[in-house]
Amino acid sequence: MSDKMLKFVEVNQETPEKRKAEKRVDDFQEIYNQFINEKAKEQSSRCSQCGVPFCQIHCPLHNNIPDWLKLTAEGRLQEANELAHSTNNMPEICGRICPQDRLCEGNCVIEQSGHGTVTIGSVEKYIIDTAWEKGWIKPIKIENEKNQSVGIIGAGPAGLACAEELRKLGYKITVYDRYDRPGGLLIYGIPNFKLEKFVVERRTNYLKDSGIKFKQDLEVGKDITLEELREKHDAILIATGVYKPREVNIPGSNLKNIFPAMEFLTASNRKGLGDKVKNFDNGILNAENKNIVVVGGGDTAMDCVRTSVRQNAKSVKCVYRRDRKNMPGSAREVYNAEEEGVEFIWLSNPKKYLGEDKVSSLILEKIMLGMPDSSGRSRPEPVLNSDFEIKADIVIKALGFDPEDLPNLFNNNKLKVSNLGTIKIDLKTMETSIKGVFAAGDIVRGASLVVWAIKDGRDVAQSIINYLKSIEKQKVA
Ligand SMILES: Cc1cc2nc3c(=O)[nH]c(=O)nc-3n(C[C@H](O)[C@H](O)[C@H](O)COP(=O)(O)OP(=O)(O)OC[C@H]3O[C@@H](n4cnc5c(N)ncnc54)[C@H](O)[C@@H]3O)c2cc1C
Ligand code: SF4
Repeated sequence: MSDKMLKFVEVNQETPEKRKAEKRVDDFQEIYNQFINEKAKEQSSRCSQCGVPFCQIHCPLHNNIPDWLKLTAEGRLQEANELAHSTNNMPEICGRICPQDRLCEGNCVIEQSGHGTVTIGSVEKYIIDTAWEKGWIKPIKIENEKNQSVGIIGAGPAGLACAEELRKLGYKITVYDRYDRPGGLLIYGIPNFKLEKFVVERRTNYLKDSGIKFKQDLEVGKDITLEELREKHDAILIATGVYKPREVNIPGSNLKNIFPAMEFLTASNRKGLGDKVKNFDNGILNAENKNIVVVGGGDTAMDCVRTSVRQNAKSVKCVYRRDRKNMPGSAREVYNAEEEGVEFIWLSNPKKYLGEDKVSSLILEKIMLGMPDSSGRSRPEPVLNSDFEIKADIVIKALGFDPEDLPNLFNNNKLKVSNLGTIKIDLKTMETSIKGVFAAGDIVRGASLVVWAIKDGRDVAQSIINYLKSIEKQKVA
């Protein structure tokens, strides 16, 4: 037997020591689970069951929060799971990544009275994680599959929520996506430390087991046309998200090691999923031992700085042109980033990148906040002669996203878009300017939140059902 194999046998042999160690882990897990269980009960029982559930009103899905908190406090988790699933297709994902401080928890009556919110998101995550663990979540079983089929472009939360709602009623569903894995920004945008990838894969595998077909690595507009898809299906949903990064065009922009946020985050997420990533493995997209500067102040910027910290960067700085009060990102994320050692350079704007071949530093200028602009926020105005320089081995641009030019990409100018490039829909039916083609999620709203994408996916499913029924009736008549 070779040395390698001997080692393998040794490691895998059942020994009394190994059994003892495993028992200790099991005992620990049991105590830990019990602790979490008690914590969830304790938090749930803090809900005052107030008459006006502001938490529910401010949750985009209007989740029945007070009722599932009550069920959790009473230990009736199976019922809590069913209730949570009745309004949400991915409650354990929302529980992890919704900005609760701006939604449900921020409006909790107990929070408003100064006693600290009930941790609604954590309880939601706990209920559904337990349901998965106990095997209460089962793939959808279809008795009578319908003849009509729907093609969904985009396997992000909007497309997936719609796919599940339609599948529950027996429609044939195919989801088309240009990435190699389903999940959209859940899989390649949001970092693993906020949303573990096994959680996303558990959901998408459940949808596959429910009979939804996935065609990955297929870009609509390049590998297949919208018209070809329309011929294959009775209705189409466009849920392609927004991916065009906003740019700062300043001198030195063509230097190496200046990356858009999605390139950096996708590489990191792919590594987490076990992929080979050439530009990470050769060090180019790896923050380890480097001075990292992230430009931008939204949640994507926070994900980039916190990912850099986890990659053992030498220093991490975040440059934002407004102040802390005017930052678009979640206050909790900024707080977390600061706790982890990120330095924020407020009221500053990049003016120039410096370096020979690769970027080596940035020239920033100081900003003061002037009169409100069209968005109602104070207008950033440069302060004269206020330039200063900071070191940078990698610069990550996280300035937000715009929609891609879909009419052009799909080679279909019948598809009407707003002047921002988002798809125009009939606000009642969510149908686009093309008959039988619907749209939902970020591609309609602009960059938004997962919980809104799920809401849109559920709403558009209802409109598609009405449409499919109406064309079925016309055929019979
Ligand atoms: C870095 C980052 C962090 C975020 N963090 C949070 C967070 O913590 N909490 C939160 O609530 N929200 C967060 N968001 C926002 C959230 O991820 C999005 O609002 C949400 O994913 C939008 O869902 P969607 O289904 O509309 O689009 P997406 O999730 O973007 O999915 C669109 C899918 O369409 C596919 N696609 C696009 N074009 C084509 C084509 N031509 N052919 C085939 N497929 C195509 C894409 O590959 C993608 O899989 C974050 C966003 C980013 C960028
Ligand atoms: S979906 Fe989001 S906003 Fe709604 S209850 Fe859950 S965490 Fe709160």
